[in-house]
Formats: sequence, C-alpha cells, structure tokens
Amino acid sequence: MDIILTGDRPTGRLHLGHYVGSLKRRAEMQNSGKYNDIYIMIADAQALTDNADNINKVRNNISEVALDYLACGLDPAKSTIFIQSQIPELFELSAYYMNLVTVSRLQRNPTVKNEIHMRGFKQSIPVGFFTYPISQAADITAFKANIVPVGEDQLPMLEQTREIVRSFNTLYKEVLVEPQAVLPDNSVCSRLPGLDGAAKMSKSLGNCIYLADSSNDIKKKVQSMFTDQTHLHVEDPGHTENNPVFIYLDAFCKDEHFAAFLPTYQNLDEMKAHYQRGGLGDGTVKKFLNEILQAELKPIRERRELFAQDIGAVFKMLHDGSQKAEAVAAQTLHDVKSAMGIDYFK
Ligand code: ATP
Ligand code: MG
Repeated sequence: MDIILTGDRPTGRLHLGHYVGSLKRRAEMQNSGKYNDIYIMIADAQALTDNADNINKVRNNISEVALDYLACGLDPAKSTIFIQSQIPELFELSAYYMNLVTVSRLQRNPTVKNEIHMRGFKQSIPVGFFTYPISQAADITAFKANIVPVGEDQLPMLEQTREIVRSFNTLYKEVLVEPQAVLPDNSVCSRLPGLDGAAKMSKSLGNCIYLADSSNDIKKKVQSMFTDQTHLHVEDPGHTENNPVFIYLDAFCKDEHFAAFLPTYQNLDEMKAHYQRGGLGDGTVKKFLNEILQAELKPIRERRELFAQDIGAVFKMLHDGSQKAEAVAAQTLHDVKSAMGIDYFK
C-alpha cells in the first residue's frame, strides 16, 4: 500500500525549481497508476508562519499554486488536492506531536536554521515558524503517507517526521507510518539554483523563472542569468561547474534538443568541452537554454491559461479535495487519540 503526500507553500507562483524538483515527478507518479492514494497539499497554514502580516499574499497564491498544479498535469480525478488550513485535525495532531520533540532538536534542523537566517528573523523567530517541522510531521502522518517526493531542502523535515513516528509508536501504539523521502533521479534537480546563482531558486528570494512567465519574461530572465565570472571573452576557457546556465542545461537538456536547436553539437558533453577549452560564448549557451525552456514551458503556460478562465471550478476542486482529505485525517486523529488513551467518551 503506497500513499504519497507532498505540497507547496502558497507564497508565490511555482517555479522551475518546483517543476524539476517535485512537480514533474508527481505527475509521472500520478499517471503511473502504481500508488493507492496521492495527496497534494497547499500549505497555507505553513506559509502563514512567516507571513502572518501578509494574509493577502497567501490567500491570493492559493489559486495560483492550484493553477500551476493543473497546468503540470496533476489531475483531481487521480490526486486529492486540498488546502491545509481547512483540515483542523492536522493542528490537533501537531499539538500532540509537540510533546515528542525538544527545543534543541528543532534548533539543530539545518533547513530551518538556514531559513531563519535568510528571512532575517535573528532573535524574533515566530514560534509557529520554529515548529513547522512538527506541523509537517502531522501533515504527512495524517494521511499515513509512506512516500514524500521533495527537493533536498526537505530531507531534515522528513527525518524529523520519522523520529516523531518512532517515538509515538514506541510510547503508545503502532499507528503511525514512517515515511521515505523521494528525491529526483537527476541530482541537479534536487536543488535548482537561482538565476542569480544563489544556492536555491526560491519564491522568497525572487530569483525564479515561474511556470506562468510569458515567453518574453523567460527570454529576458535567461539573458540576465549569472554564468562563469572568469569567462570574460569568448576565447577564454570557461567553467561549466557551478555555472547556473550549465546547471539548468543539466536539468533540462536532452540530446534531441541539439538536433532541434543547436546541431553543432550532438550532446551536452560536447558542448561543455567546447566551453571549457574556450571559443564558445555565453550568448550562444543562453540562446540554446532559452529555446529549451520555451519548448518545455509553452504547453504548461497554455494549459494554465485555459484553467485560469474558470477560477470558480478551481476552488470547487479544492473544496472537494479538502473534504475528502479531512475524512482521512479525522480517522488518523481518532487512531492517535485512542492509542494515547485520550478517547474518554468512546
Ligand atoms: P519559500 O521560499 O516560500 O519557502 P520555496 O520556493 O522554497 O518557497 P516551497 O513551497 O517551500 O517552495 O517548496 C515546495 C517543494 O518544492 C519542496 O518539495 C521543495 O523541496 C521543492 N523545491 C523548492 N525549491 C526548489 C528548488 N530550487 N529546487 C528543487 N526543488 C525545490
Ligand atoms: Mg521552501
């Protein structure tokens, strides 16, 4: 019995990092027919942990994220797509899990540490933000998910969830399921860097190509990308490693793209070798990357525009999904409370 849970924070439209890191794979898993249930959560309550003063941002991005899902082929007939805040059982589960985790354990979480630094919280860390790994454990375990397809930044969250599951099952009764993280096959996709070369393309850093970007936006953004800073003249030898343009090519380029857009080379290795020995300009590399991204994103953008014509239908889909998800979470909460012996009125 394989059950998948994944999700995204509605803090902005989804970007290429989400696409290669998680979305593309979700759609493939969904269409493989191999999984019993697939739950996809729009994590609005988690988004509020660092956006309490910006409710509108979170509200407005719920339909944006849902549109990105539909555009990438997630299908409500096959996957349950729901909104976190509409499932109160998740917050009740979190409350019990909080007693199984220490403050020092949360402080050691490297992703949370890095995010606290990135968001400039210093000593003013919202308690909700600090404890979001516990809330994520509630989200995953509520659906008894054993598979969680994510990018690399989520590995510490999965580890925290597994620890909570083990503590709970040992202390009370074996009712929770230990989940496995599933990373993309291609390691560059686990953490796609930003256009600016920052370690991660991230909505909060504004260094993204969004799935909804126009063809013109994509072109301009590719042209503005960082490359190898030492590659000043075309004839200079260049570096392909740590060079965002080549990292994106590693993530997106297939041999057939050369036949279609740049027949000078057969494959990426040949192109990289030319760049490394010198004589290949950044302009040519960027032009090629732009062609590939345009081809990949055009059908997504077109599907998105189609779904955007009926936002009412998108919310109806989210409402139905939320009702379905709540029924499952309620059963788990019931199991959890009876395992703990706090089902006094049964
Ligand atoms: P925020 O900046 O608000 O945290 P985000 O861009 O990090 O937004 P999330 O909603 O936190 O996006 O992440 C959703 C999923 O996408 C997670 O599984 C995460 O690992 C994955 N993901 C996010 N950014 C990238 C990236 N640059 N490369 C690969 N996967 C990514
Ligand atoms: Mg994030």
